[in-house]
Amino acid sequence: MPQVALDTPLAPVVGPPTAKAMEKSFGVLTVGDALWHLPRRYSRRGELTPLRDLPLGEHVTVVAQVLSTVSREMAKRRGSILEAKITDGNGILTLTYFNQKFRAHDLLPGRRGIFSGKVTAYQGQLQLQHPNYELFENRDEAPGASQLDEAAAKAWAETPVPIYPASAKVASWTVQKTLGVVLDSLSTVPDPLPQYILRQEGIISLHRAFEQVHRPQRESDAHAARDSLRFREAFELQLALLDRRRRSAQEVSTAWPSESEPLRRFDAALPFELTGDQRLAGAQIAADLAAPHPMHRLLQGEVGSGKTLVALRAMLQVAGGGGQSALLAPTEVLAAQHFRSITEALGPELAAELHPVLLTGRMPAAERKKALLALAAGASRIAVGTHALLGESVMFADLGLIVVDEQHRFGVEQRETLRRKGSQPHVLAMTATPIPRTVALTAFGDLEVTTIRELPPGRLGIETFAVPEIEMPGRAARVWARAAEDLAAGRQVYVVCPAIAPGEVDPGLDPLADVPDAQATEQRPLSSVEETVAELRARADFAQFPIAGLHGGMPGPEKDSVMRGFADGDIRLLVATTVIEVGVNVPNATIMIVRDADRFGISQLHQLRGRVGRGSHAGLCLLMTRAEQGSTARARIDAVAETADGFALAEVDLQLRREGDILGTEQSGGRSTLRLLRVAEHGELIVHSREVAATLLEQDPELTSAPELAAMLERQRTAGALDNLAKS
Ligand code: ADP
Ligand code: MG
Repeated sequence: MPQVALDTPLAPVVGPPTAKAMEKSFGVLTVGDALWHLPRRYSRRGELTPLRDLPLGEHVTVVAQVLSTVSREMAKRRGSILEAKITDGNGILTLTYFNQKFRAHDLLPGRRGIFSGKVTAYQGQLQLQHPNYELFENRDEAPGASQLDEAAAKAWAETPVPIYPASAKVASWTVQKTLGVVLDSLSTVPDPLPQYILRQEGIISLHRAFEQVHRPQRESDAHAARDSLRFREAFELQLALLDRRRRSAQEVSTAWPSESEPLRRFDAALPFELTGDQRLAGAQIAADLAAPHPMHRLLQGEVGSGKTLVALRAMLQVAGGGGQSALLAPTEVLAAQHFRSITEALGPELAAELHPVLLTGRMPAAERKKALLALAAGASRIAVGTHALLGESVMFADLGLIVVDEQHRFGVEQRETLRRKGSQPHVLAMTATPIPRTVALTAFGDLEVTTIRELPPGRLGIETFAVPEIEMPGRAARVWARAAEDLAAGRQVYVVCPAIAPGEVDPGLDPLADVPDAQATEQRPLSSVEETVAELRARADFAQFPIAGLHGGMPGPEKDSVMRGFADGDIRLLVATTVIEVGVNVPNATIMIVRDADRFGISQLHQLRGRVGRGSHAGLCLLMTRAEQGSTARARIDAVAETADGFALAEVDLQLRREGDILGTEQSGGRSTLRLLRVAEHGELIVHSREVAATLLEQDPELTSAPELAAMLERQRTAGALDNLAKS
């Protein structure tokens, strides 16, 4: 066999059929992919897997002992059934085989092995139908077994058996054997990490780590190997992100002096003082813009913390130098609202001079043409829009700054498309979805992060209550009465539903939103906008208040007119899907009612409640749910009800969610997926590995001392591998 390296295809090493199966089941293409297909856990031959809590309907792999086998002829049909019972010493699992009597010769009482199959229930008993198994060598039957000393027997019983992610086609022990073949034929794997890092961090070599993670002699070997591989994952990711950041800092872009005539006039007319955090964020951004390298900054802060104002001041700095800014918003409603509030905040004089324009997909052609012309000619210094801003026909005279609102709704490609419309414009991303530090370092590690924690003074706060409809029907009935009271007092009310019509989910629903486990939706229809509108209009206590529905399926102009009607107070109660989630600002609204709140993620609920309590009246948020007590869905709702701090909630969210939801799940297979690193668990490691990576880049920016790492970064740059990761 010629040299087998990490990038060698699997087929010549293990044979085409096995390679095909590994590819189909796990997306494994190369030797390196196979080596990164890591055991999920380890069992010991002497230690049986608890059988009591096996998840119904899932494919499991267990270590157990055969208890008994019984074979009988079927009563109604020709053929036989073999039933074997296996045990962990307490629980019992039945294995069933049709017409496979011969298995009784294998499955002798007392033998141990690994069994693998889908868990089903039959007449109240857990069983595996036609499971695969691999029996351990029987020590008692081995020749000379009686002479083996006790130590050898103990070693045998304690040798870890790797249990791999398996599929119906490829069992755990098939993966184990395949990796045995791969490891036996593997040439020495060069270690990409510099020696000094291995020594300093106590990391074992890559080759030895692969050997020990797949064929450990002792549990401690497997442990050390996993720790080493996890460090490598964290380190390589941080190195790539820091390298990207370093490269973009070297690009040249226009510097916009912080002395700006329109900004000075704007500040002088501002009816309130900036908060301390707004001032700090503003100073950082002003310095970034005044430097001749493109800014890449993420501005995060609670809903209503005044981010938009900070962004507008940055736009005015650019406008002062004659440049243009573009604000990209995720929805038409938001774009329209930003446009309105920016125009208002500028006041008539500045608005006339800077001529802000709105650009959305559904604008009348004539209006659109006028806006495009104003941007291309440079007459307009500020563009606000949706994805329409990315269109080919959109040209800028001198695009100096891009502001991306609700950054998490956009992919890196979209940010890049807009960037190409200028020459290295500065980028300010904004998010009201608080991001835990470790996630920020992982998913947005190439951005500088600025956080606004302070809210403008005078906010009265929001009270939040969970309303479990099943356990507390009385409280549920009170919800509507409470809404009627606030309406009668002149206030306005939001009601949010997960569906548009019965059984119909809003097409405008954010596909990237943290929509939770698909729990129990099948059994009951979700509350919908249409039904709720009809229901509320029929109530006597709502009769005098105009009620309207709003959802992503409505034509743009209709949506705008409803939104405007609500903003103007003509519509008093708005029933909507999550189209109103972010940024919508109606200070007179005091109550947010969310129906089937269990259908929304923590950050969505936090965003939604941020819609109320924005004016001089306190806000109330009522989270209605039919989810069961003790479910994860209820845990989310309770967390939101108990905690007002978005950053604390983001941490809870991280604990309740699985990794795939955070960093995006689409990249199956390939090395771009994180294998061992868990953002929620390994925060310290992420921070530490970032420091190690930063030190290396400082001493050796081009990585001449670590050519393997340099090549890896180069490959990632060309493949855009990080873009996927940073997208979520
Ligand atoms: P965000 O974009 O962070 O959700 P906005 O910039 O939309 O917040 O601000 C929310 C509201 O608070 C707006 O009506 C804005 O005019 C007002 N606001 C912003 N900064 C201040 C401040 N320093 N003092 C008082 N009100 C402010
Ligand atoms: Mg906002």
